[in-house]
Amino acid sequence: MSDATRCRVCGRELTKDEIAVTKKLICRGAVSFLCVSCLAEHFQVEPEEIRERIAYFKSMGCTLFEK
Ligand SMILES: [Zn+2]
Repeated sequence: MSDATRCRVCGRELTKDEIAVTKKLICRGAVSFLCVSCLAEHFQVEPEEIRERIAYFKSMGCTLFEK
């Protein structure tokens, strides 16, 4: 069994970026997280838009994201 954090919707294993972007977009204190596809669905945008947000937050030096 893996203790990796999984998407609360589809159960896919999450990357650190997905966990960080969930915190940024939904709630900093979030305890359950969504993958890029489910975040896109949640906000009714294209997954590409979520990836752009990740890139943007990283470029801003957001501390939630690993360098
Ligand atoms: Zn998902």
